[in-house]
Amino acid sequence: MSDHPQPTPAQHSPGTVAGRLAVVRERIATAADAAGRRPDEVRLLVATKTQTADAVLEALAAGVDLIGENRVQELVAKAPAVADRVADGALQVHMIGHLQRNKINQVLATATGLETLDSLELARAISDRCVRDDRTGDRALDVMVQVNVTGEESKSGIEPQDAAALATAVAALPGLRLTGFMTIGARLTAAEGPAGEAEQTVRAGFARLRAIRDEVLASGAPGTASATELSMGMTGDLELAIAEGATIVRVGTAVFGPRVTATTL
Ligand SMILES: *Cc1c(COP(=O)(O)O)cnc(C)c1O
Repeated sequence: MSDHPQPTPAQHSPGTVAGRLAVVRERIATAADAAGRRPDEVRLLVATKTQTADAVLEALAAGVDLIGENRVQELVAKAPAVADRVADGALQVHMIGHLQRNKINQVLATATGLETLDSLELARAISDRCVRDDRTGDRALDVMVQVNVTGEESKSGIEPQDAAALATAVAALPGLRLTGFMTIGARLTAAEGPAGEAEQTVRAGFARLRAIRDEVLASGAPGTASATELSMGMTGDLELAIAEGATIVRVGTAVFGPRVTATTL
């Protein structure tokens, strides 16, 4: 999070984006505190899928400096509204949905980072494109490896046992800068069993992502030293993710209210 003092929840009406953002920042601060971490160790990414450009601008006006889009189409549609802020470095835009190879150019034109890298083929294709555009070194694209920690077939991401090898290979590509790892936690509500067991399952998944990151950092392999981020935790489970070391939480519903349009993750 930024160094700017954030308004307390009481200063905003609860029905506004600014008011809900203040509540989310409180949740993050409280969870960080409970985990013995500093609140500024956890960055808020606002997930903007299905939201209008106006709603996004409302969030930016309330101090948001990192947003995430799931679909390339929405990313491209909202890009003009945020282009100025991206250009002057005040806003970062991450692609947090699955990326198809034929949409790489559109993502490179509008996003500052990609959190959903899950195959070496895709990584090579993006890196090649970046190299052709002279985007290497400082200008390389920030990427995270998405890991499917729950093993659910419906979720994208590489299997945990293959994640470290993929990350090491990605880190060596000239057009990419590996910044860390991303996952979508197990569904709290769908998990069965006695109270507390669902939370344990969710936490175990987040702990797995942290272990993968630590393994890759400890490897000392070329390009891996920058892979410090753990993007995990959403509206329903951000406290659990922060307890397990999240450095980025991706929050949509708690910022904008329930989504009207159904989307897939
Ligand atoms: C929608 C989405 C989020 C935010 O989910 P909420 O439950 O609305 O906070 C986070 N990450 C990804 C990948 C998403 O698609």
